[in-house]
Amino acid sequence: MKYQIYSLHNYRKIPQIDKFSEQDLKNIDVVGHVLPFKTNNYVVDELIDWDNFHEDPIFILNFPQRGMLQPEDFKSMASVLERETDKVELKKAANVIRHKMNPHPAGQAHNVPELNGQKLPGIQHKYDETMLFFPTQGQTCHAYCTFCFRWPQFTGMDDLKFAMNQIDYVIAYLKAHPEITDILFTGGDPMVMKASILDAYITKLLDADLPNLQTIRIGSKSLSFWPYRYLTDSDADDVLRVFEKVTKAGKSLAFMAHFNHYRELETPALEKAVARIRATGAQIRTQSPLLNHINADSDVWSTMWRKQVKLGMIPYYMFIARDTGAQEYFGVSLTKAWEIFRGAYTKVSGISRTVRGPSMSCTPGKVRIVGVSEIKGEKVFVCEFIQGRNSDWVGQPFFAKYDPRALWMDDLKPAFGQEEFFFEEDLARMML
Ligand SMILES: *Cc1c(COP(=O)(O)O)cnc(C)c1O
Ligand code: SF4
Repeated sequence: MKYQIYSLHNYRKIPQIDKFSEQDLKNIDVVGHVLPFKTNNYVVDELIDWDNFHEDPIFILNFPQRGMLQPEDFKSMASVLERETDKVELKKAANVIRHKMNPHPAGQAHNVPELNGQKLPGIQHKYDETMLFFPTQGQTCHAYCTFCFRWPQFTGMDDLKFAMNQIDYVIAYLKAHPEITDILFTGGDPMVMKASILDAYITKLLDADLPNLQTIRIGSKSLSFWPYRYLTDSDADDVLRVFEKVTKAGKSLAFMAHFNHYRELETPALEKAVARIRATGAQIRTQSPLLNHINADSDVWSTMWRKQVKLGMIPYYMFIARDTGAQEYFGVSLTKAWEIFRGAYTKVSGISRTVRGPSMSCTPGKVRIVGVSEIKGEKVFVCEFIQGRNSDWVGQPFFAKYDPRALWMDDLKPAFGQEEFFFEEDLARMML
């Protein structure tokens, strides 16, 4: 299958363009100047249901929607577009809006480690056991999700980009930190890399003497946006051989697949790609944020987990959409997130209950909403860390005042008249 990209500049060439109204086109043009917009022929021809595209979750996942900008931002960008054609000026106007959308959340700047006094900007190390690696060649994706908070990486705001190409530093860092058992290749999407580049990175890791390294993880949305990566791309077989190399070396390869809706699991191409990846000995775990307009419905989740299990994948995380980007459009309250999670979790067998959530990736760690309860007459959220900047915090229940409008950790206050949460003093010290 030939890979055809559609973006702001050529999307009017999609075969289904006659279905769009003038207003539809304008909305895409205006919002697409601010948020990243890229899709491809697989998404357009095999995933989107064009009979009902305005409500189609995959259409909303890839095509910019008017509601993703605040009305005043939409208006100002629209008027700039009417009078301005100069690219630099358009970018300036877009960057003003982008900066309002908080592109650098969760104290990420604090996670950039150092080795011998040198900053390593292509690495993040927040939790003891797992290090993130952003290979330079993997900082784009086969299509862009409209909810994505990583858009600084795609829109040319270079100073906010985390990337580097020096695997040697990664190896030196791993040797200096024997507590790390997992390295996660992330992006963008590392599976946009050529097999030869992935092979170079992986081979160096495997050849280095790293007895503590157990698992190589690859975080990728390629199975939903371009399953032909594993079927018909010219280096599809080579990529599978790289995966095999990992499992044959006695390490585990965890393919962390992003799916947002069960519709992404229904094509023959997807089924074949999953089977080929599994045949290399890799395990596929799945994760997704909970998104209004796309999957804010427990039936969507239970169906998605069941289909994943049927295809041999392991449900792993449900995330709460973070406080960046078009959060007003995609955001789901913590109460509703818990109800949706529970509604889905109670409808699947224990085999699917490997999934954990709903979870917020925030500055102190991954905080899960365990539930809503009432203790001594006070209604509370029961929370727990499933990952913590300090691993001692993990698994200790703590309580926040119930607030039906709370969307994110910042909105939560300690329950029972406490001044602060149990981890806050410790956290403040760590963030100095
Ligand atoms: C989620 C996450 C990880 C991995 O955590 P696991 O619980 O091991 O899956 C690592 N680093 C960061 C920054 C994360 O958000
Ligand atoms: S595939 Fe991942 S990194 Fe790429 S746009 Fe989607 S969420 Fe962002």
